[in-house]
Amino acid sequence: MTRGKLFVISGPSGAGKGTICKRLLEKDSNIRFSVSMTTRLPREGEVEGVDYYFVDKTEFEQLLINGGLLEHNRYLDNFYGTPRKQVLGWIEEGYNVILEIDYHGAFQVRDAYPDCVLIFIMPPSIEELEARITGRGTETEEVRERRLKEALGEIAQAEKYDYTVVNDNLDAAVDRVSQIMKEEQNVISINQ
Ligand code: ADP
Ligand code: 5GP
Repeated sequence: MTRGKLFVISGPSGAGKGTICKRLLEKDSNIRFSVSMTTRLPREGEVEGVDYYFVDKTEFEQLLINGGLLEHNRYLDNFYGTPRKQVLGWIEEGYNVILEIDYHGAFQVRDAYPDCVLIFIMPPSIEELEARITGRGTETEEVRERRLKEALGEIAQAEKYDYTVVNDNLDAAVDRVSQIMKEEQNVISINQ
């Protein structure tokens, strides 16, 4: 059986990563989404085991110490990490796996698995990013401000990614990421 491929999707908060990933999963049954672990509290509507595994700091540290995380990072006041076992299992089973993680995590993954593909989701402008974070209505003003501040540093990392996709028109952005995934799937890796 052909192994699946690992895709990493990053971009500033509010760029549309979650929305795009959801659409990709609806379109293609050969894609699996890696559910991250976080110490952040759930937003309204977020579901345990679907959006994240919500854990406390002790549980997070335990998994980290036991080598259970493929990568991890601290973002603002919380820890986020990718459970290792599920991701590697899906790849062996032939699924293409998406990690929606920040750039610190993305570069850790690339160091460990050079065969992965890094895709950066770029907002059309900072003004639009601000409008989307506000429109989502899930953060307090203070947290929104901090997320926007982080965004500038994140956008500066885009040039280190394999691809940058501007999420202006949602359908077009989803189609572009889909196309990249299809093309990259056909690239035979020397590591396989
Ligand atoms: P992220 O996961 O990158 O933080 P989300 O997927 O939560 O971002 O999107 C942030 C907000 O922007 C959501 O309310 C979403 O519906 C909206 N959004 C996403 N893509 C677009 C787009 N192309 N045009 C307008 N609004 C969008
Ligand atoms: P949010 O709180 O908006 O869900 O996520 C905040 C940031 O953490 C986003 O940039 C998101 O991509 C990133 N993130 C989510 N899960 C992980 C993870 O498992 N690892 C890392 N390194 N970043 C993550």
